[in-house]
Amino acid sequence: MTTERIGFIGLGNMGAPIAMNLLRDGRDVSVFDISRDAAAPHLAAGARWADSPASAAADADLLITMLPGPRQVEDVLLRHGAAAALRPGAVWVDMSTSSPETAQLVAETALDSRGVHRLDAPVSGMVRGATEGTLQIFVGGDGEIVERVRPVFNVLGRPETVFHMGPHGAGYVTKIVGNQLWFSHLVATAEVLTLGAKAGVDVELLRKTIAASPSNSTLIEKDIVCVYEGDYDESFAVSLAAKDSGLAVSLGRELGVSVELSALVEQIYRRAALTYGPRAGEMSPVKLYEDLAGIKLRPGHAS
Ligand code: NAD
Repeated sequence: MTTERIGFIGLGNMGAPIAMNLLRDGRDVSVFDISRDAAAPHLAAGARWADSPASAAADADLLITMLPGPRQVEDVLLRHGAAAALRPGAVWVDMSTSSPETAQLVAETALDSRGVHRLDAPVSGMVRGATEGTLQIFVGGDGEIVERVRPVFNVLGRPETVFHMGPHGAGYVTKIVGNQLWFSHLVATAEVLTLGAKAGVDVELLRKTIAASPSNSTLIEKDIVCVYEGDYDESFAVSLAAKDSGLAVSLGRELGVSVELSALVEQIYRRAALTYGPRAGEMSPVKLYEDLAGIKLRPGHAS
């Protein structure tokens, strides 16, 4: 695998450290992003610049995309020709949090008939996991192709956190539903902490008591604490979180599964993105609750 050529498209918060880890592992990588500046550290580390998505794909054995969502995946793969440029036998690995339908459309339009393979392989673990090579990777696709790409996944996550979830689409679904649960936890947590704090109870004492109760969650135990410093985690944009929540709602619609709570949470995320801007942090719904109640969640004082 080390002799394989990798094309990499999408050098944002997640893609930049992932591509850098591939370079550090000695891989032959060509990179493309709509912002050439994003590639400067990679070019300095030995990557080749591709002038377009199609040229990143043309000589690649493996094309990795780490794009915002379905719209950009369709743009890059179909409109800008990356899929058509891939050679028979090559593999497209989409690490974006995207939709099974978009990948299916790409495959039916430009991959399947020419013997180009694909995997969906979205991730969790945030920028820190991407930087440290400790991502969880949820893979959907044929077992034989998963095994072919596994050595590359093992550079980006630990072997025990690379999960083959099932056929095409299973990786996207795993990521979408897992994310949705975290978003629902976040909104529920913001609501009750704001309520308690507005009533005059110290938020940190409140958090500790909930952490010791059956209502505990990772959010209560640790994630929420960063808002005490006014940090709403800008390493993951609230607009991307709203997109992800929308993917859960769309999945429910397609499958005829009722997802009432997810639909409400999606709207709250969208409102936060409209209020604070698309690049505000993924925990901005907490700020929305704070601002609507006229308080800040800060230890030592209630309101
Ligand atoms: P980002 O917005 O920081 O980066 C996206 C990159 O894609 C940018 O560099 C942008 O210039 C580039 N891009 C956009 N459109 C393009 C196009 N048409 N052609 C080429 N490049 C294009 O997003 P991110 O935080 O890196 O997230 C990437 C994906 O990973 C998303 O699907 C996100 O939901 C998912 N994700 C993010 C995190 C996180 O903590 N940030 C964690 C897990 C999964």
